Amino acid sequence: MVKPNKDHLEGMRCQWCGSYGPFNITVRLTIPIYDEGFDFPRSEDHTIYWDEDSPCQCNECDYDGNVHDFNVAVETEGHDEDPSST
Ligand SMILES: [Zn+2]
Repeated sequence: MVKPNKDHLEGMRCQWCGSYGPFNITVRLTIPIYDEGFDFPRSEDHTIYWDEDSPCQCNECDYDGNVHDFNVAVETEGHDEDPSST
């Protein structure tokens, strides 16, 4: 049973096939690159970043769009908020 996303893909779902992922997101990766090269992914000194305008493709149905197209959180009622945070 596929569960709604609650972490990296929170609020995201393919609106065409209903898949909760994985999605192929084109990310911006910031890592230290030396003249000799780089040691990603061994380096822990890296940052992966994406936003709503990042290209995103559904792994299931190959739909191409951007992250915004996959964000269905706005249509979901009863968004879970952590009651212990207050
Ligand atoms: Zn899909």
